[in-house]
Amino acid sequence: MEILHVSAECYPVAKAGGLGDVVGALPRYINEAGHIAKVVMPMYRTKFLMDNEWEVVHKGGSYMGNWWFEFSVIKEKTNKLGFDLYLLDINGLLDREKVYGYGDDSDRFLAFQIAVLDWVAAWQHHPDVIHVHDYHTGLIPFMLKNCYQYKHISNIPTVLTIHNAQYQGWMGWDYSRKLPSWDPWKWGDLDWQNTINPLASGVKCAWKVTTVSPSYLAELRREANGLENLFEYEKGKCVGILNGIDVKVWDPATDKYIKDHYSIKDVEAGKAKSKMKLCDTFNLDFDKPLIVFIGRLVGEKGAELLPNAIEDAFYYIGRRMCFLMLGSGEPEVEHRLEAMKPMSLNDYNVYLGYNESLAHLMYAGADFLLMPSRVEPCGLNQMYSMRYGTVPMVRKTGGLIDTVKDFGEAGGYGITYNHTAVGDITHGIWRAVELYHNKDKFTEVRNTMMKLDFSWETSVQHYIDVYKNLT
Ligand code: ADP
Repeated sequence: MEILHVSAECYPVAKAGGLGDVVGALPRYINEAGHIAKVVMPMYRTKFLMDNEWEVVHKGGSYMGNWWFEFSVIKEKTNKLGFDLYLLDINGLLDREKVYGYGDDSDRFLAFQIAVLDWVAAWQHHPDVIHVHDYHTGLIPFMLKNCYQYKHISNIPTVLTIHNAQYQGWMGWDYSRKLPSWDPWKWGDLDWQNTINPLASGVKCAWKVTTVSPSYLAELRREANGLENLFEYEKGKCVGILNGIDVKVWDPATDKYIKDHYSIKDVEAGKAKSKMKLCDTFNLDFDKPLIVFIGRLVGEKGAELLPNAIEDAFYYIGRRMCFLMLGSGEPEVEHRLEAMKPMSLNDYNVYLGYNESLAHLMYAGADFLLMPSRVEPCGLNQMYSMRYGTVPMVRKTGGLIDTVKDFGEAGGYGITYNHTAVGDITHGIWRAVELYHNKDKFTEVRNTMMKLDFSWETSVQHYIDVYKNLT
């Protein structure tokens, strides 16, 4: 089977979060399972683009409403990522440094999707399945089904994977004129509460919909940022498939971002070296348990509760632990975390921004990882941290339910709590400190976690079954 993935992110080309990690890994595992997976994404102005060699494979032009634009598709020459990687360039629209965050994002991703379909329509042999990811590519199933110019490829099955249903890409109905001419009787496939909702449209029109964990799918029927009824109605074609992690990139024994490699056999000594580096760099006390947070500083992640939780932990539990925060996001949260620096007694620091290598060092050097998420479709951080022997402290939601079992239960290994609330987080921190000082239990928990298998091998089979059923 030949599967074309269409995505806004793909690690290491461009990544803003878990979507990038998944699209950077899943296609390679599909290839390894004996199929052909390709990825097409926008051509941003990234380091990966500059550092690699490319050949032009297609040039075309299309209309978005009245606007005529030209595009080209380039292909990476050496199959560096283990799959064919195509970048689609639309001059002035996509070739920017960031993936998201521009005022014209709706136009950028709409033009991208039109160009992708124009390109696919010109292939001699069409892919067996088009697999789209999140709202940025959520209009492709609608366009394939209902736009006249794609009629001859409308029989290609589509799969939509939802990595995050909070973001839906809402646009006004004026955008309907920017789509290639479509069957007006099908306006209901675009509409959700009087706006064009690309994610809702994807759910309605894709042949199959997957979410990145089974528990998240169950949650979406109760809490989906306005789409609850839709998920209830379409439940028959939805399936939850837990993400895997790329064990080639995320392996403490080979990780290219860390110098002091280790495995389960020498985990204590190995982690200590990375911890020492972190403590030196960020002025932290090596002897205390190191609790870290890595992620977007947004409400979804419960980030605005972190300052209060840390203050409460210091006040009620005592200065018995260190905190190191890495992330960027809402300015208010950034400001509060930054403002807490002066109160540090060698036990608190924060790095504001995106830093891939620091993230790897933190997974390796930390003792605990905080994840008080309100919404966590799958969550990769907890899986990375467990592979690196770092105990996750998670709120029971979405994929965190499917991957972390509290160490208080038989065979458990993490710290879990019920609510995204300061009290629950602080209680989790207290349990972490106690666990850290119970050396035998701590070692047992570490060993159990590091033996868990979160690799893609199992999950990829579920995707292949989905494709097979469609073709
Ligand atoms: P989401 O996609 O919702 O942001 P995930 O847990 O699925 O959350 O994926 C987060 C990914 O982004 C992980 O690989 C994590 O290490 C990375 N990440 C998030 N914030 C940062 C940051 N500030 N610096 C480096 N890596 C980050």
